[in-house]
Amino acid sequence: MTDKYTQPPILELCSLTKTFAAPVGVAGHIANLFGAGVKKIEVRAVAGIDLTVRKGEVVGIVGESGCGKSTIARMVAGISSMSGGSINYRGVATADMTPAQRKDFELSVQMIFQDPFASLNPRMRVLDIIGEAPVAHGLISRAEKRDYVVDLVEKVGLSGAYLNRYPHQFSGGQRQRIGIARALAVKPSLIICDEAVAALDVSIQAQVLNLFMDLRDELDLTYLFISHNLGVVEHISDRVVIMYLGRVVESAPTVDLFSGPNHPYTRLLLEQLPVLEAGERHYKPIQGELPSPLDPPPGCPFHPRCPSAMDRCRQEVPQLRTIGTGRISACHLNEAA
Ligand code: SF4
Repeated sequence: MTDKYTQPPILELCSLTKTFAAPVGVAGHIANLFGAGVKKIEVRAVAGIDLTVRKGEVVGIVGESGCGKSTIARMVAGISSMSGGSINYRGVATADMTPAQRKDFELSVQMIFQDPFASLNPRMRVLDIIGEAPVAHGLISRAEKRDYVVDLVEKVGLSGAYLNRYPHQFSGGQRQRIGIARALAVKPSLIICDEAVAALDVSIQAQVLNLFMDLRDELDLTYLFISHNLGVVEHISDRVVIMYLGRVVESAPTVDLFSGPNHPYTRLLLEQLPVLEAGERHYKPIQGELPSPLDPPPGCPFHPRCPSAMDRCRQEVPQLRTIGTGRISACHLNEAA
């Protein structure tokens, strides 16, 4: 088996940044009518992320809602523009791609969304939902379409007899399988799963996660797996990146992260995972709420919720530092050690 860590990078994010201009609101508009000059506030949803994903790797990006992980997914998939930095695919920056390279990139990177029902056209049959794009892009001829789609639906665990059905005639898990087949139809290399199992029942989640792993081996795929739930990425990811308020706070091989989390936020996320005790499920929610990116706390963004916060944490932003092989973390406690 090939060692993933010696494989070339398929995706590199370099200082990737996304800023939004928050509206000034009604009061601001009124004040501006009187010449107050109230300016829009700049919100940094993604604050300069560096990340390398190697061919064949599964990288999990985890954090609470609003931490910027889905914004990264949307920028990589080209759905959202970036405000700064670069996205390199197979060594070429997306901004410098020729039209042929861009077309290859757009087909090679496919996204699977949380809500399969919303992402499937309700008026299209499964045959067309899956088969239209490969025909349109010249990957197959129209005459080959039916056999091609039958092969794909069977690959994702559905029956080839369902091709004339519409999305509403399937269960949530089946619809997500149709979404996966649609993504596979254009022969991608990198699949971005944005909360791809979050809307499914726990038992179905496990089946779909197993399907992702089988497809990785069979089709030589690379995954960027985005989830708010560490438990979901544990069994699928080679490496986990933890994000908080637009920044990476820790990244480590999955085994190391689960056996010895470094960052206080990662430790609290792990404590959140439900534990079965005497037949009952218990879990410990993280205290406090994610601060508004409109008004991020000074110093370490996690300090208002951190049980280990010190005076320095309220003033100085901790930088990401190497803390072991393939491990980085941004916490002042690592410098005190
Ligand atoms: Fe907690 Fe301070 Fe580390 Fe931030 S830098 S995670 S506040 S100990």
